[in-house]
This record gives sequence, C-alpha cells and structure tokens, in this order.
Amino acid sequence: MTKDYYKILDITESSSTEEIKSAYRHLARKWHPDVAGNTPDIIARFKEINEAYEILSDSLKKADYDKARRFYSYAKNSYSKQETKTNYKTTKNPNKTSKNFSFKWEDLFSHKKERDVKPPRKGDDIYSDVEISVFEAVSGTTKVINMLQTNICPKCGGRRFINGTQCSNCKGKGETSTYKRFSVKIPAGIKDKSKIRLAEEGEKGLNGGRNGDLYLIIHVREPKNYKTDGLNILKTIAITPYEAVLGGNVTVPTLRGNVSLKITPQTRNGQKIRLSGCGIEQNNKFGDMIVTVEIEIPKNLTDEEIRLYKRLQEISGENIRERLE
Ligand SMILES: [Zn+2]
Repeated sequence: MTKDYYKILDITESSSTEEIKSAYRHLARKWHPDVAGNTPDIIARFKEINEAYEILSDSLKKADYDKARRFYSYAKNSYSKQETKTNYKTTKNPNKTSKNFSFKWEDLFSHKKERDVKPPRKGDDIYSDVEISVFEAVSGTTKVINMLQTNICPKCGGRRFINGTQCSNCKGKGETSTYKRFSVKIPAGIKDKSKIRLAEEGEKGLNGGRNGDLYLIIHVREPKNYKTDGLNILKTIAITPYEAVLGGNVTVPTLRGNVSLKITPQTRNGQKIRLSGCGIEQNNKFGDMIVTVEIEIPKNLTDEEIRLYKRLQEISGENIRERLE
C-alpha cells in the first residue's frame, strides 16, 4: 500500500461524494502552488491531493482502491508483507492514474447543490494575481479583472434534468460558469505584494454560509532602465569623453516624451541633472527625473581616433593628479 488517500484528503471511507469533493476543493486551493508557494514540497503535496481525488472521485477506481486498502490492512495483521505486495499488484494499480495527472479547475470551482440539510459553510477565499507598473503603483489606477464564477444553473435550478431530459443550458452539470468583470480601484502608493480584498466575491458559501472573499495580490513590475524614488525617476545615461569635455545635447526618453538634455562643458562623471516635472504624476503633482551622467569610454576606437587621443596626451599641459596631492 503506497499512500492513504483518505488520510491525504482528511476524510474517512464513509465520506460522501460531496464530502470528498468539498475536502478536495478546500485542500487543493489551500495547497495550490500559486497560493502556498512554488516549492517542491508544496508541489508534491498538491499533486498528492489531486492524485487522491482522481481515485476517490471515481467510483470504479475508488472500489478497487478500497478493496486493496482493506486487503492490505488485513494482510498486514495476518500474513507476511510479501504476500500483500503480490496480491496488491494484481488489482488495478491506482497509482497508474497519477501519471495521467490532470488538474481539474472545474472541480475546484464548482459546487453541486447539496440535497441534505447541512450546517452552513463559508465559501473558500480565492487569490488572484494582478500585475501593475511602478507608475500605476505610485499614481493609482483602475484595473478591469475577469474572474470565472460558477453558479447554480438558472434553468434547471441545479437539478440537472428537466422532466427527465438533460438540461440544455448546463448540459446536465447543474451549474454554469460565467466571467464576472470587476473594475478595481488600486490606490496610489500601493506596495508590492499588497492584497486588495473584494468581500464575498470568492467561492460560493454552502447551505446558506457566506461567500468567500476574493483577494487580489498586487505585483509591482520593476522597470529595467530606471529606478524610482517616490515620485522621482532615477535614470543613468552614458555620454562620451568628448561630450563630457565639450558639452552637447542628449535625447532622454521620459514619461512625457523625449527631452533634450543639455550637457554643459566640463561635466563630471556621476554628475546629476534634474529634469523638472518629468517624473511620476500623483494628484496633479509631478516628480522629477534625475539623470546621472556616466562617462563611457568608446570601445572600438579607430587608428585615427587613437592617433588623436595620443596627440591630445602630448599637448595636454594639465597634471590632473597634482590636485589630488
Ligand atoms: Zn441546467
């Protein structure tokens, strides 16, 4: 006997189909790698939960499994383990299905109408990722989010059949899935990994229990070419040694289009130049762009250029190291 699927789903052999499904949904959401973390341990556990559900939700596979399980516990108490092993192999191997592991979202996000009167149970919370830019995080934004929601079929009321004929609306499933649009206001100054809670927009509650909540996990995308400091944008631009000495104009892309940045003669390496109002906007206030100038030595110099640099060296009368002494 390899795994105790009942133990994995925290149920017993006498649990009903609904209870198996409910336990599975609860655990699958709890241990979903997107929620619990993408570590090998969690992925293994998540697979195990799905594997258990694959077997226990299928009446034929479950019957085979139960037989093997009962035999195993009997054999363990009476005979040698060798015999158990041999006999167990002759039954349909429940592990076979784990190779065809498939994760059924429809199982996770669906609810069958419960016939028995049971205590109210709160629906599970749902977590969903939302990615925003750093500008949206600072200034605030509104995002439209589509979430798949499952509801009891309005035509058959979850009964699956109407006058003995399969319901045409839900094709006998008893429920329908539709996308619900949310227009979510993301407040200015939101931090990475913040959660926004949409009350009762999660999984439907059972037996009159309240719905779960929908949590949006905000991910702030870090820009590649610049950093931010409050409303200011910090950017580094490269200039050539002769631009540093002679001065010049450099085109700098900003949020409000390209700006011509004036490099004054004798610009030092690491010098900062402020472009007023070219930063991030928040409540009609604009930050600045702070450009740090980095003198970059050209890599592929021609013979002519090297000759001219040598000539410069010869005629230069200034001893720059003298100042450092
Ligand atoms: Zn229906």
